[in-house]
Amino acid sequence: MTPDLTGRIALVTGASRGIGYHIARQMAAAGAHVIAVARTVGGLEELDDEIKAERAKTGKGEATLVPLDLTDMQGIDRLGGAINERWKKLDVLVANAAVLGVISPIGHVEAKVFDKVMAVNVTGTWRLIRSVDPLLRASDAGRAIVLSSNAAHSARAFWAPYAASKAAVETLMRSWADETKNMALRVNAADPGGTRTAMRAQAFPGENPETLPHPSEIASRILGMASPALTRTGQIYQAKFDRWMEYQQPAEVAAAG
Ligand code: NDP
Repeated sequence: MTPDLTGRIALVTGASRGIGYHIARQMAAAGAHVIAVARTVGGLEELDDEIKAERAKTGKGEATLVPLDLTDMQGIDRLGGAINERWKKLDVLVANAAVLGVISPIGHVEAKVFDKVMAVNVTGTWRLIRSVDPLLRASDAGRAIVLSSNAAHSARAFWAPYAASKAAVETLMRSWADETKNMALRVNAADPGGTRTAMRAQAFPGENPETLPHPSEIASRILGMASPALTRTGQIYQAKFDRWMEYQQPAEVAAAG
């Protein structure tokens, strides 16, 4: 069910295309003021046009466009500062932006490609979390959603940099969720499953995209994770199957502390 996000402030990264674009558009349609982050200004402007057209019909939703490269650490810090100045809080974070890198045997991955995947997917996500964590805590029902992938917890030949980055993002999410478990803030990961986007086409160039769900369909499922009514934290929602994957610590690890 689409949550009512009237008046909520939602930051969505990777909002210029793909899953992030549709999450941003749908959050605005649900009443949010969306802070839309990406590098491609054309994609952000297209999003803004759609949000304005929807607002003209329903009176709901607004966007602030933030052209930003998530490898720009000072830029991320400034963004948190700007949100603090304007709203003093953030209600929703969707850390969606990521890059695939290359699909290649681990020994053939170029160092600069590995570093880029880690810089955008892991360091950029962590820096953003660091920048907005106090703002999400200041919300009466802060909701953080980080985009993960099945690659994080499956053995997949040739996917090492991306898979490692997504495993790292899930671990960031779990640590953060545990730190905040007694607060109003809820922190979870979404695994969209194979979705008809540019990243998927890069990973599987021979695949017929028509066999995959449209990103708007996946986005509409992920939207529920932003609901003030959500109680779960530290867990992974598998959007493709519309189910939560309970994280279970192996008994012997838990016993060892
Ligand atoms: P796309 O490649 O279609 O979109 C990626 C988005 O990330 C773009 O908006 C892009 O914007 C942004 N981005 C990339 N690099 C940067 C950067 N350096 N700074 C700022 N923004 C950046 O990807 P998807 O929509 O397919 O993926 C969305 C999320 O879902 C990702 O986290 C992905 O790992 C995950 N996922 C996707 C699956 C799929 O099948 N599509 C499956 C499993 C997980 P711009 O280039 O304008 O900066």
